[in-house]
Amino acid sequence: MQQLMTPHIKVTKVAQSKVDALDFDNIPLGKTFTDHMFVCEYENGEWTSPRIEPLELIPTHPAAMALHYGQAIFEGMKATVGTSGVPLLFRPEQNARRLNESADRMGMPNVPEELFIEGLKQLVNLERNWIPPQEGSALYLRPFMYADEPFIGMRAATSYKFIIIASPSGPFFTKKIRLYAETQYIRAAAGGTGEAKAAGNYAAAILPTEEAKQKGYDQVLWLDAIEHKYIQEVGTMNIFFKVDGKFITPETDGAILKGITRDSVMTLLKDKGFEVIEKPITIDEIITYNEEGRLEEAFGTGTAVSIAMIEAIGYLGRTIELPEANPVSQDVKSTLDAIKMEKEEDTHDWIVPVA
Ligand SMILES: *Cc1c(COP(=O)(O)O)cnc(C)c1O
Repeated sequence: MQQLMTPHIKVTKVAQSKVDALDFDNIPLGKTFTDHMFVCEYENGEWTSPRIEPLELIPTHPAAMALHYGQAIFEGMKATVGTSGVPLLFRPEQNARRLNESADRMGMPNVPEELFIEGLKQLVNLERNWIPPQEGSALYLRPFMYADEPFIGMRAATSYKFIIIASPSGPFFTKKIRLYAETQYIRAAAGGTGEAKAAGNYAAAILPTEEAKQKGYDQVLWLDAIEHKYIQEVGTMNIFFKVDGKFITPETDGAILKGITRDSVMTLLKDKGFEVIEKPITIDEIITYNEEGRLEEAFGTGTAVSIAMIEAIGYLGRTIELPEANPVSQDVKSTLDAIKMEKEEDTHDWIVPVA
């Protein structure tokens, strides 16, 4: 019988925390990192020496395979402090599972779920003073894995690093977003890597996103790779529409990232008595529903913003303005945010306290 045991994590602390220098009311997004990181290495077929140590530069061989062949995957999640004062994680086992699904697709080893969760918990517990207390703020956690074997040649690497870093993120105004429906570039095709949170997917999205911004939009609305008509998702968010009182979202067809927020929002909408339908949706259908006054709400879901309302969609040279009021989306967002702050009952056992 396989023994399930808590991995022993060696902890080396910084002499002096930098947290006192942080202005919690003014946190530069994505640029501030906590004192420590969790690190472990995969060698000879197993994960070794899991440890938490001061965050510092990592020596990298110029032939490290991730730099050349792109075996690099990541996760994104958040820790909050609830009313009890205890740090909380939201569905971390889902991130552990998805990291391993991404790893499978990219020919990388799996990280044992208990190592992922235990590393995360110990890091968050050590960095608890870095969790911004304001509602809507959180400690963003970035688990990631990459091939660090020095080798020139096309095959799966034999050595990898799995690291978790943490970055406080302030309460940012969730302003409504304007999307550009992309008909030239594509993000993913079934059979490709769209379902994996693989670094290369984002590299390929940078140019189209910059071009959308130049045209006055915030993010790209990705359409399917073959016909450029089925809606897939947005930058780092899944997408939902409310039509005739029901919610619809593109079904995950192998090219769409299976968002954990997407899954949570589907559950909350059903709790609130709404029907949620997963099916292929074309951009033309949405435009028609909008013209007929049947499109009631539209929003994106993802860990970074939880729910972002969609104001407009640019498509083939015109801009389609969407309905202004988003009462149900707003309500679901409030419920989701309240669960994460222990202000509403966690009826689905999503919250994992970091004891
Ligand atoms: C991470 C991500 C999402 C959202 O996933 P969550 O688990 O809800 O944060 C959606 N689409 C893409 C492409 C992503 O990378």
